[in-house]
Amino acid sequence: MPYKFTFDLSRIPRFFFTEIAKISYEKRMHRKVGNTMQDIIRKFRIEEMTGLNLSDAVQLLEDLVDMEARNFLERKKFRKTRKRALFLPHCSRKFMDNRCKAKFEQDIPSYVCAHCSPDCLINRAASVAEMKGYDVYILPGGSCISKILKLKHYEGVVGVACGEELRLAGEALYQMNVAGQAIPLLKNGCANTFFNIETLFKIL
Ligand code: SF4
Ligand code: SF4
Repeated sequence: MPYKFTFDLSRIPRFFFTEIAKISYEKRMHRKVGNTMQDIIRKFRIEEMTGLNLSDAVQLLEDLVDMEARNFLERKKFRKTRKRALFLPHCSRKFMDNRCKAKFEQDIPSYVCAHCSPDCLINRAASVAEMKGYDVYILPGGSCISKILKLKHYEGVVGVACGEELRLAGEALYQMNVAGQAIPLLKNGCANTFFNIETLFKIL
């Protein structure tokens, strides 16, 4: 399920994500984080930069912190996996209309990138992942994940999506004992979305 609000964190300085990682660490250590979320929102002027109201901004940041914490907990297990898949969101394709030459495989269901645009985020992500031996899926929605996992029995999965989708996917992976690593969308809206490809490359 998508968020009920749209956001764009793509222009927020990288240092913001270091702060998110720091809070995640404090939480893992069971240290009090108190008003840290509000402090970060003020410090990076998240409300002004994104147009989010305070409660939506807090929800978004809490999801980022939780995701970072889950990644940390799963990392060791993930590194030991061999059979891996990468799940990408269809909303990050350069084109959402017939200019995208990806073939849609109804049975899976997933798009298969035809690599038509060198500057397409999905193309760049899929090309590197395929080279590293990943099976790549470009998903029209999170509901396909359980179906794929039941069919293919992956040991490790890297997923890119917005926060709520990642949380649901994380639950499905946990129930099936699959090690997961998540990369959040930094801009949502279900079209022309954006994620940090360098973060993805580091995890792959
Ligand atoms: S590079 Fe792939 S995902 Fe991107 S627009 Fe072309 S076919 Fe679609
Ligand atoms: S922003 Fe993308 S990943 Fe999130 S719900 Fe919309 S289509 Fe799915």
